[in-house]
Amino acid sequence: MTVVALGVPTVHRTLSPAPVDGPLIDTFGRVATDLRVSLTDLCNLRCTYCMPAEGLDWLPGDQKLSPEELIRLLRIAVTRLGITGVRFTGGEPLVVAHLEEVVAATADLDPRPEITLTTNGIGLAGRADALKRAGLDRINVSLDTVDGERFAAITRRDRLADVLAGLRAARSAGLHQVKVNAVLDPVTGLDDAVALLRFCLGEGYQLRIIEQMPLDAGHSWRRDRAVSADAVLATLRQHFTLTPDPAPRGSAPAQLWQVHDGAGVTGRVGIIASVSHAFCAACDRSRLTADGQVRNCLFAREETDLRALLRSGADDDTIEAAWRAAMWSKAAGHGINDPDFVQPDRPMSAIGG
Ligand code: SAM
Ligand code: SF4
Repeated sequence: MTVVALGVPTVHRTLSPAPVDGPLIDTFGRVATDLRVSLTDLCNLRCTYCMPAEGLDWLPGDQKLSPEELIRLLRIAVTRLGITGVRFTGGEPLVVAHLEEVVAATADLDPRPEITLTTNGIGLAGRADALKRAGLDRINVSLDTVDGERFAAITRRDRLADVLAGLRAARSAGLHQVKVNAVLDPVTGLDDAVALLRFCLGEGYQLRIIEQMPLDAGHSWRRDRAVSADAVLATLRQHFTLTPDPAPRGSAPAQLWQVHDGAGVTGRVGIIASVSHAFCAACDRSRLTADGQVRNCLFAREETDLRALLRSGADDDTIEAAWRAAMWSKAAGHGINDPDFVQPDRPMSAIGG
């Protein structure tokens, strides 16, 4: 197995060997059941908090997993490692022509995992029905503002209408309940949050507001410029009546709030305080990049090269063991709030958000 250290010294713990069977567990007892799969690092937007205007050095095509290679890894994950949920993401997964094929193959696995997609929504209007037919269960569409000019400023593309059409198509296709993911702009974000919540309540979507994390390609994240979950909550409370959702949170990253009007609960809003109130202790995620690297955390300093194993003819037992070892060494937390925190080299768009 090749473990690639990513540029920065890692504090190595002395680890016992990973279990050879059972759930995909780490040394802190967390069980990974949710697999985030990046299908590509390419994207048709250029969100300022994610990638530069000129784009990035994209992965060469031959370094990306083929659909067959990916489907083999998904089979190992589901049938041997206990993965029960698969989320396809990117980069932008809708720029991948074989997305429906991979979703359908995932839906054929036994036991069938829950299949979800995180997308910017561009092109979704024409594909939502086909994705639903292929087996997609739910969808998260990223939308940071409902103001057209601000959308164009944040994403550097004038495509708000496409995203709104994609959202409507997802709802019509029955991808219930459509979720809207928002990362807030440091200047206009609190106003955007109020307008987004009104919009989502009106349309029947569930809004989830995500704290910006130090995962931008330009390494320009600054804590004092990111909108905190507490500021979001305080602002929303000036406009809406919110109470904590009574459903158990489990490993969900979002803290859910019920939104009330005079007549009762009109919807829910999730706040994902990845930085200010980290939820690493309940993390259930494993990540696979478009070039076949397992990452045990968004902020991992090491990756495990499953693509090299696949292409060297490794059998399923060997790949399973490498994946187990990768997860076994997962750190206790992301470390963003530690004084010696170092941002990962790969940006969010290359890891898979
Ligand atoms: N392109 C798709 C999209 O935008 O939904 C999928 C990939 S994108 C990397 C996944 C999610 O990560 C999006 O909701 C995006 O807003 C979020 N994201 C990107 N960069 C981020 C950052 N630095 N901090 C927090 N979330 C980020
Ligand atoms: Fe593309 Fe998603 Fe990054 Fe925006 S957040 S640039 S849509 S990958």
